[in-house]
Amino acid sequence: MLRNLFNTIIRGSRGGAFKPSLDGILNQMDAHLDKIPNLITPAPQSRPRTPFDDDAVSPGEMAMLNLPPRNKLRALRKGVPLFRNMTRGAKLYDDAFWPNNDTASPDLIAEFEALARHLGAVDIGYVEVPRYAIFQKKGIPAPYAIVFTVEMQQEPIETAPSFDCQLEVMDGYMRMADVSLQLSFWLRDHGYAAYPGMALGGVTDYPHLAELAGLGAIGYHGLLITPGEGARVRINTIYTNISNLPTLAATGRENEHLWVRDFCAMCHKCIRQCPVDAIFGTPQPRGDGGMQTIDHAACRGYFHRNNGCGICLAVCPFSHAGYDKVHGRFKGNPDAPQFRIPLPVVDGATDFAAV
Ligand code: SF4
Ligand code: SF4
Repeated sequence: MLRNLFNTIIRGSRGGAFKPSLDGILNQMDAHLDKIPNLITPAPQSRPRTPFDDDAVSPGEMAMLNLPPRNKLRALRKGVPLFRNMTRGAKLYDDAFWPNNDTASPDLIAEFEALARHLGAVDIGYVEVPRYAIFQKKGIPAPYAIVFTVEMQQEPIETAPSFDCQLEVMDGYMRMADVSLQLSFWLRDHGYAAYPGMALGGVTDYPHLAELAGLGAIGYHGLLITPGEGARVRINTIYTNISNLPTLAATGRENEHLWVRDFCAMCHKCIRQCPVDAIFGTPQPRGDGGMQTIDHAACRGYFHRNNGCGICLAVCPFSHAGYDKVHGRFKGNPDAPQFRIPLPVVDGATDFAAV
């Protein structure tokens, strides 16, 4: 795994002859799922994971393969810990872990959240994973997900598309991999099953789970918009057997952030500023109950040629003006199309409820 990373960043495109496959690396990580005896499988309508690789982009065009030496070293400082911790996390799927507990007291949840925040998580939520949020041909080792976010700093993000922005995104991935691994160890020490979701890639739709966990709402750019950091967050999960987590359903709460999409319907800033018109004017309902907001095939080429782009993230008013300011000025938009990811109707094996 680390050799792949080294080849990608240090050896670069080798005059155009070498093109590593990030999807191949991620599939190697996912292969550890084969060791899980009772894997929870996707629903028939689940979608495949969006690929990273783009055959139409030559190695010589890929920004990550052609970094100047100083930036290669800066990228490695993020990439090595990221892939080392992802590999350690993947190995937790290899050996059978027999939990001796499946419920957690409010005090233990509070202790867990305090540790998560100490380690760098910003928001933490919980959801019973609907099978439609599991990607095709993947699976999860336990039915519940702890979903958390880490913040990406505003200054580098606002330089998108740039190497500094890409480095900040890599920093977010690096921190998530560390936080999810340490929290998984902590949960296992307390007797619970805990499997870190992969910081990069993953086997479930993280924004989708984060919205169901009440952490925010998916904006028209397809990213989660949260109170506090807006879209400047990355999302990760930990799969666990704790059956009494304080999910929205268990606590009778609603997701209070869904007004965000009513704002999106009149904002459209990311749609106007996307250089390749990859963001749909109106999100398209998907067979898995989610919404398709991006034409990924259109985005991918620009993404690879331009340091992971990120213009839609940078220009979003929630990323720089902030959630509270946007909310305070917003007078509502009754004409906005309504999209709501259906809540799980949950017995761990359901498809999805009517919208
Ligand atoms: S830029 Fe505007 S339309 Fe796009 S996600 Fe942000 S708020 Fe929504
Ligand atoms: S990352 Fe760039 S190319 Fe892709 S959707 Fe966002 S603005 Fe468009």
